[in-house]
Amino acid sequence: MPKISILPEEIRGKIAAGEVVERPASVVKELVENSFDAQASYIRVVIKEGGLKEISVYDDGEGMDLEDLKLCYHHFATSKIKNLADVFKIVTYGFRGEALASIAQVSRMSIASRREGQDIAYQIEVEGGQELNIKPVNLKKGTVVVVRDLFFNLPARKAFLKSPKTETLKITEVVKGLSLSHPEIRFELKTQDEKEKILFSWEGGTLPRLLQKITGIDQKYFKEVRLENPPYIIDLILTDTSYTLPHTKYIWIFVNQRWIKDEKIVKILLTALKPFYGNLGFPAGVVFIKAPYHLIDVNVHPAKWEVRFRDEKALHQLLSSAVEKIFSEKKFFYRETFYD
Ligand code: ADP
Ligand code: MG
Repeated sequence: MPKISILPEEIRGKIAAGEVVERPASVVKELVENSFDAQASYIRVVIKEGGLKEISVYDDGEGMDLEDLKLCYHHFATSKIKNLADVFKIVTYGFRGEALASIAQVSRMSIASRREGQDIAYQIEVEGGQELNIKPVNLKKGTVVVVRDLFFNLPARKAFLKSPKTETLKITEVVKGLSLSHPEIRFELKTQDEKEKILFSWEGGTLPRLLQKITGIDQKYFKEVRLENPPYIIDLILTDTSYTLPHTKYIWIFVNQRWIKDEKIVKILLTALKPFYGNLGFPAGVVFIKAPYHLIDVNVHPAKWEVRFRDEKALHQLLSSAVEKIFSEKKFFYRETFYD
């Protein structure tokens, strides 16, 4: 008897799903990123019981046709890359065709969508990865994905989830962070439990105004600096040195508009800024790193929270030396017409 056996499809699917979908906030992140990729200008997220009971994400983007709907929840089903070379020039948020497949494995999901230019919208229902039915529905534009009973068939994972209150906070954090990468997109996040409650609502506008909305800090304190050293461009939009905070929770890092968590970059930045902000104070704001697509690898983390830089040292050096130079010359400025 050999000791090795190939795991059955059902178990494989659930193991893969567990990597991408850690909690309700991961579902929200993947669905909103799909809406970004669909060129949405409006995204509405509605949750029930912290997303444990239900998450729905509506967008007014390009939508899917009937054939797309039948394919979209399968593993490796994607419209975003066609070959291996494409993996090294990814301009979309998604690329693996794994999010909807993972979510479908561990929930009861329905997707309604209308492809631009088509007369009919369709809705597909999938439970634990199995298609239940597909039918025409009423939907003027875009896509709405509804995810119910997350982890209903994965009780071990469900047991690790926190209270609806904590999950709601996580989701709010994720939606706000994602909105910072696209201040031009209208966003709405609400809970629909006994009462409906709006958690975040953004009508679209400039980045400093959005930062004001999210942090509560007046937009006049946010200043912009551009650090340039080809092939990298780094834009810092931070509170000026007269406005410091006792914590670092209002610092967001983006690489080519993808929100990432990179402790190293935060540390280098804060160390370089220390002489200007003082030992106990930190700025609030965002760091936008632009790098040529072939110099970064986004295929390193299942939830895509990390990217790898081909020349990490050069980037880190630019960050610390340029910050020091610009701040000692007080060259940062305020742009009234930011991104307008
Ligand atoms: P990926 O984003 O990596 O391609 P997903 O599983 O997230 O994989 O989605 C699979 C495919 O379904 C996408 O490539 C896209 O073509 C389609 N899709 C998913 N969500 C939407 C949406 N909100 N609007 C339009 N198309 C979508
Ligand atoms: Mg995706």
